[in-house]
Amino acid sequence: MRITVHGAAGDVTGSAYLVETSSARVMLDYGLFQGGKKEERLNRRRPTFDPKSIDAVVLTHAHLDHTGRLPMLVRQGFAGPVFATRATVELCDILLRDSAFIQEMDAERAARKNGGHVPDEDRPLYEIEDVELTMSRCRGVGYDEPVEVAQGVTARWIDAGHILGSASVELTIEDAGTTKTVVFSGDIGPRDVPLLRDPIRPEHADLVFLESTYGDRDHRSVDASIEQLAGIINEARKPGGRVLIPSFAVGRTQRLVYELGEMMRDGVIPSTEVVVDSPMATRTTDLYRRHRPLFDEEAWEIIDAGEAPLDFPSLRFTLGPDDSKALNGVGGGVVIISASGMCTGGRIRHHLRHSLPKPETHVVFVGFQARGTLGRLLVDGRKEIKMFGKILEVEAQIHTLGGFSAHAGQTELVEWMTYLQAHTPRVLLTHGENGPRRDLAKKLDQRWGLKAAMPELGEIVEL
Ligand SMILES: [Zn+2]
Repeated sequence: MRITVHGAAGDVTGSAYLVETSSARVMLDYGLFQGGKKEERLNRRRPTFDPKSIDAVVLTHAHLDHTGRLPMLVRQGFAGPVFATRATVELCDILLRDSAFIQEMDAERAARKNGGHVPDEDRPLYEIEDVELTMSRCRGVGYDEPVEVAQGVTARWIDAGHILGSASVELTIEDAGTTKTVVFSGDIGPRDVPLLRDPIRPEHADLVFLESTYGDRDHRSVDASIEQLAGIINEARKPGGRVLIPSFAVGRTQRLVYELGEMMRDGVIPSTEVVVDSPMATRTTDLYRRHRPLFDEEAWEIIDAGEAPLDFPSLRFTLGPDDSKALNGVGGGVVIISASGMCTGGRIRHHLRHSLPKPETHVVFVGFQARGTLGRLLVDGRKEIKMFGKILEVEAQIHTLGGFSAHAGQTELVEWMTYLQAHTPRVLLTHGENGPRRDLAKKLDQRWGLKAAMPELGEIVEL
C-alpha cells in the first residue's frame, strides 16, 4: 500500500492524498490550491492518476482548500461515492456552489474584457452542473461510525473542532494480509473555545499526517481579544461610529455571533445592533443552528437556560443588496459582519469603500490576511488604497484580533499527539508553510522524541 501527497505540501492549500492498495484507490480530501497565479496553475494541471480509477473520496471538512477540486474530479470521470459527516455534506453544498458561481462570474468578466473570448486561464474549473453531480454522490456519515469506503479500507471520522462537521479521519487499510492504521488530522481546531467541541486526540496509528498551519506559534488569548473587541465597540458608539468586521462566512462569522451574544448576555457591552451582511454567512448560520447537537457544553448551557447561542435580540441578517446599501445610513455603533474575510470580494468591499475615509469607522480583522490581499494592505497600515478604480484615503482605525482563530496553535498541535506518540508512529507534516513545518518538527522531537518528515508535492509514501 502507498499514499501519494497531491497537495498542501509546504503550503496550506490543495489538501489531497491518494491511498492505493492492490484492491482499492481512495482519495482523502481533494482541495483547491488558493492564492495567486502559481496556485491557479496547479489547479489546472492534469492529474497524474486516472480519476475514473478512484473508488471513493473521503472528506475531512468542507473548506474549499480540502474539497474545492472535487467537482473537477467528477467532471474528469470519477463515478464513486463521496463520504463525509452530514454537516460537511451540507456545508459543501453551500461552498462548492458559491465557488462555481464566482468562477462563472470571473469568466464572464474576462469575456467582456476580451471581446467575448475567455482566455484559458480564466475558464471556470467547473460549473454548477458539476457541483450538482458531485453533491448527488455525497453520503453523510456520523462521527465515530466506521464505514467501509472501498474494499479493505474503513474510515472513521473523529471530531476535529475546526468548523461544523470537521473531522480527523482514521483509515484502517487491509492489504495482502497486513493491516495498517493511518490518521489524517485534517485541520485541527483550538481547545477550550466555545460553540464547537474540542478536537479529540486519536489513540493509535502507524502513520500520521499532521497539519502545521500554526506550527510556529501559539495564539493570543481569547479573553484578551474579547476585551479588546468590547473596547472598540464602546468607542464606536460616538455619532457616525461603526465597526466593520471582514469575516469568513463559514465558521468565523458564527463564532463572532456567539461571542457578541455572550458579551451582551453577560453585560460586557450594552445591547448593540449587529448586522450580518453576507448571503453565504446567513445560510451557514442557519445550518449551524440546525446542527446544534454538535455544539459543546458551553453552548448547551445557553440552550438549557432558554436562550439561543447563535441569536440575540439586536442581531439581524440583511435580506438583499438594497438592505445592504441601506446600512450606509446607519451609524451610532452598529457592528457589520461581512465577507469576504480578506476583503478580496463580497459586500465588505462596498462597506469599506463607503467607510474607510471616515475616522469614526473601526475595521476589525479577526482572521489570517494573506499577502497580496486588500485585508493585508490595511493590516500593514497602508494609508492609501485603490478600490473600484479609485484612490481612497484610509482614515478609519484598523485593529487586528488574534484570539478567534479556528486553528490549533503550536502547543495544541504537539499535545494532539499525546496518545498517538506512545506507539511511535511515522509522522508527516503537511498543510503548513516550510517555516512552521520545521518549527513543529523541532517541537515534536523535543516533546515526544518523534522525527517528523516534511513531504514534497507528489511524494509517494510506501507503507
Ligand atoms: Zn479548514
